[in-house]
Amino acid sequence: MNDSINLKDYIREIPDFPKPGILFRDITPLLAEPAAFQAVIDRLTDYYRDKQITAILAAEARGFIFAAPLALALGARFIPIRKPGKLPFETRAFHYELEYGSDSLEMHTDSIHSDDRVVIVDDLLATGGTISACIELARHSNAEIVGCAFLIELAFLNGREKMNGCDVFSLIHYD
Ligand code: IMP
Repeated sequence: MNDSINLKDYIREIPDFPKPGILFRDITPLLAEPAAFQAVIDRLTDYYRDKQITAILAAEARGFIFAAPLALALGARFIPIRKPGKLPFETRAFHYELEYGSDSLEMHTDSIHSDDRVVIVDDLLATGGTISACIELARHSNAEIVGCAFLIELAFLNGREKMNGCDVFSLIHYD
């Protein structure tokens, strides 16, 4: 059924966004096609189904889009990682560099534990800065990081090399 869907067909390329020289991969056409969106969640669920995942972590905002339905499909907890000042309880922060500047992310200190098996999800892997920050936040808890999942991987930016041996699963590649 949805095995025949070519996800790349639903990614729109926008030149010079958000600044000159950047070719932005726009996922909104995929989100607007329920069969394609469902295929993404099904393929991620198939990959992690037998891996006893207990928590799905994702950074705002686009990571949430895929992480929340994946968490429900796997029967796992959804843990939001957010920009500074957004989470109301006690937080841990991590500062990082990204493709268009620098930033920091925060996670609630009580959100994951040493017996958790976590997957970290984002829409796109570029330089790996964002996902490395999420990995660092997760490592503080001593949870097992089973892997990192992406809809899109910009392989030519070598973000995988920053994953420190963490398993990377991505559905669409640009070489
Ligand atoms: P990284 O930290 O350099 O790996 O960049 C990945 C982050 O930047 C992800 O959270 C993406 O949402 C965002 N990002 C970078 N490039 C693109 C793009 O072409 N399309 C959509 N998001 C992007």
